[in-house]
Amino acid sequence: MTASSSADRDPLEDAPIPVARPVIGDAEEQAVLEVLRSRHLSLGPRVTTFEDRFAGRLGVPHAAAVSSGTAGLHLALRAVGVEDCTPEDEVVTSPFSFIATANAVLFEGATPVFADVDPQTLNVTADAMASAITSRTKALLPVHIFGYPADLPAIERLGLPVVEDAAQALGAVHADSTPVGGRGNPTVFAFYANKQLTTGEGGLVATADAAIKQRIDSERNQGRAPDMQWLDHDRLGFNYRLSDLHCALGIAQLDRLDDMIAARSRVAEWYREALTDLVDRTGLELLCPDRDGDRRSWFVYVVRVPKGVDRDETIRALADRKIQTRPYLPAIHLFAFYREKFGFREGQFPVAEDAAARGLSLPFFPEMTQAQVQRVADELAAVLAP
Ligand SMILES: *Cc1c(COP(=O)(O)O)cnc(C)c1O
Repeated sequence: MTASSSADRDPLEDAPIPVARPVIGDAEEQAVLEVLRSRHLSLGPRVTTFEDRFAGRLGVPHAAAVSSGTAGLHLALRAVGVEDCTPEDEVVTSPFSFIATANAVLFEGATPVFADVDPQTLNVTADAMASAITSRTKALLPVHIFGYPADLPAIERLGLPVVEDAAQALGAVHADSTPVGGRGNPTVFAFYANKQLTTGEGGLVATADAAIKQRIDSERNQGRAPDMQWLDHDRLGFNYRLSDLHCALGIAQLDRLDDMIAARSRVAEWYREALTDLVDRTGLELLCPDRDGDRRSWFVYVVRVPKGVDRDETIRALADRKIQTRPYLPAIHLFAFYREKFGFREGQFPVAEDAAARGLSLPFFPEMTQAQVQRVADELAAVLAP
């Protein structure tokens, strides 16, 4: 076989590159199999083990596993008093987030009030939140978007109940070395397949408050108090439980979490190196580097196409080159449903709108190779600066 024969070419060299891909190995398979064989599929010992290990990692006393990040947001908001609301009740949050953040406010009939984001970090700012607060504000719901720590010390000083959406930020660290989720506010994590840790579907609320833990444990399980008998219920509840199968997967993922987070950082660094030239030549923008001691946990590799470039056309051109990318992420207030219900319009949150219009999520996952990163960078260069 000669070096130039086609048989020598790596068959994966031009295989499509997916936008995300979870790390699942023997440990995960074994963990789930053990639960199946135990026949104890739900309300079993894996739930508590997962919760305890997760809370320990964050340095908080309590964690409550739930069926999704969205369910966690719903129960965390209820636990700080956003329940049975009227539209006069308001929760101040970011328009630049996944739609679940604002939807959770609607579940209880309250009104989401948006505050614009910082042009560098893309996180909602304490100043914008302060301007949006009224006498009807019941809670603040900051988001650690793209795994970058939001300015919680400043947001907490606004003096209202805080729920943190850390669905994208497991592993991020605040400037004072506290992990995101470790400040004691009810903080919501999510475990869908593209997150830093996955259980397939799932979520968790971390909290320093024993009463909040107890309330969420009850409300995730149809309103049953911990000391009650089967089918005895003392409050309204939901079925937001996470099964032992999911929690077993979560425990196995916790064992490798530091490695997966380190691998994401490495891939992000490869991207930064591979895209530097394109940034200089075209005005392509990358996510901000860590500053003032805050540390991002890499979740997605989002770039903003240069001003004036058609983002959606860029996505199509990359798809033709077998590179899967996504518009990421749309501003919540501009979804038709939100426009119609609340009268939102373009121009209200210009920083979020610009990030939404130009944001493009590139393939990004822990097992991505440097060659794949280079291929994405080369194809992006061919599309943006042919
Ligand atoms: C993923 C995500 C959620 C929702 O989590 P699910 O588990 O999908 O319900 C909420 N907020 C943000 C910012 C997210 O990225």
